[in-house]
Amino acid sequence: MHAIPYPLEPGPEQTREMGEAALALVEDFLRDLPDLPALAPSDAGLLAGLREPAPEHGSPLPALLRTVAAAARQGGTSAGPGYLAYVPGGGLYAAALADFLAAALNKYVAVWDLAPACAQIEATVVRWLCDLFGHPDGARGILTSGGSMANFSAIVTARTALLGERFLDGVLYVTDQTHASSAKAALLAGFPRANLRTVPTLPSLAMDPAALTGLIAADRAAGLRPFLVIGSAGTTNTGAMDPLTELAGIARTEGLWFHVDAAYGGPFQLTARGRALMSGIERADSITLDPHKAMFLPYGTGALLVRDGARLRAAHHLRADYLQDLAAEEEIPNFTEYSPELSRDFRGLRLWLPVKLHGLAAFREALDEKLDLARVVHDALVESGFEVPWEPRLTTVAFRWVPEHGDADAFNARLLRRINAAGRVLLSSTTIGGRYMIRVCVLSHRTHRDRIEEAVAVIRTACERLREEEREPVKSGPVKSGPVKSGPVRSGPVRSGAAGA
Ligand SMILES: *Cc1c(COP(=O)(O)O)cnc(C)c1O
Repeated sequence: MHAIPYPLEPGPEQTREMGEAALALVEDFLRDLPDLPALAPSDAGLLAGLREPAPEHGSPLPALLRTVAAAARQGGTSAGPGYLAYVPGGGLYAAALADFLAAALNKYVAVWDLAPACAQIEATVVRWLCDLFGHPDGARGILTSGGSMANFSAIVTARTALLGERFLDGVLYVTDQTHASSAKAALLAGFPRANLRTVPTLPSLAMDPAALTGLIAADRAAGLRPFLVIGSAGTTNTGAMDPLTELAGIARTEGLWFHVDAAYGGPFQLTARGRALMSGIERADSITLDPHKAMFLPYGTGALLVRDGARLRAAHHLRADYLQDLAAEEEIPNFTEYSPELSRDFRGLRLWLPVKLHGLAAFREALDEKLDLARVVHDALVESGFEVPWEPRLTTVAFRWVPEHGDADAFNARLLRRINAAGRVLLSSTTIGGRYMIRVCVLSHRTHRDRIEEAVAVIRTACERLREEEREPVKSGPVKSGPVKSGPVRSGPVRSGAAGA
């Protein structure tokens, strides 16, 4: 006695009603976003309720949307202006619409002739990214789920191009500041852990080119085959920039593949400052970038660009009988021939719609604004007496307070908890050179000057209160943190001469 014969196919009136209900949820969320706690405590009741078996019969959409809305308000608000932890992903509204359209239209873009124009949209987007770095016509690229998968395909491409099938003597070079996804990708690509060389860094935390040359020579002398150097265009810890021009030169001389992990920094190529900073990146054999970071897209969009597209294809293409009806690549690439993936979402629309709607100028201005804001944070913290060892190359500032006595690492861990407890901003921490550092990363399109000034005020106040409490643990009222532990003083600059000017 079902009123609807095919419940999986709602009619036009129903789809409109459903769509409007979902839009209303988003509207409410975005309206409240600036005032949501930067890290909301989780609701155990809600979580427990979500651990349930699949229902045999459906329930009304409004109740389900209430669950989604409640779920969205738990944890970190990574779409919001106070999210200064990790490398934020803002989530452009236009990109969300593109995702909705892509899923509703459900076009198959992995092989071009099933949806030529949609595949062309994606090819065009990849070309725009290649144009950013002056790549030749023969360059090819893929949109991935993120930077990790892009690094994976890059390593497999370099391996195939330079080592062939017997590759266990191949050695690759990173630093201790390189994102862990590169090491993970190398392991997934079949390399033994011992084939990963950690090149020492300079005080600026950039790879030391002379040390790289020395390690390559030592590995050759040991009968190994150096084949890949991975430079970072913006490390996750501090935004440090490896000396790309020098690394490109060494890779050329030594016959190595030069991959640049620009997952964080890549889109800053749109700005004059970014271009100057990343000079040399155009010489890379391959580049990873993450539009879901500095192009503010929702999570799920990374990209790999390979200068010699034929090499990307050689590493990823296998013939399959059941695809024999499909056209060979012509002007539009068959993306599956360049990627580990076959069926997947129509990712290109997520980038195409916002860029066409807003224009590149809007992105350029937003990125310039974030560079300025990082500078504001840096200068304010220096002025307040914090130790801020590295000037921001991109939009990340690592800092700490060096207390007169006690364990500096423990003090800063307490400081971070207190800053985040205020609820207006969410910062994170890292360890650099063995020392605990707090980091601010400004990269949400919704973060502007007002929130940055608030962040600085929150940091200053939290630090002052903590210092007062630790000086007079008894008299200063309700003290949450314990009294100062006596112990060796571990302060002083993180590394000698580390003020990376
Ligand atoms: C974020 C990041 C990655 C990993 O990218 P995902 O999109 O999280 O998979 C790799 N390298 C750098 C430098 C990053 O900042």
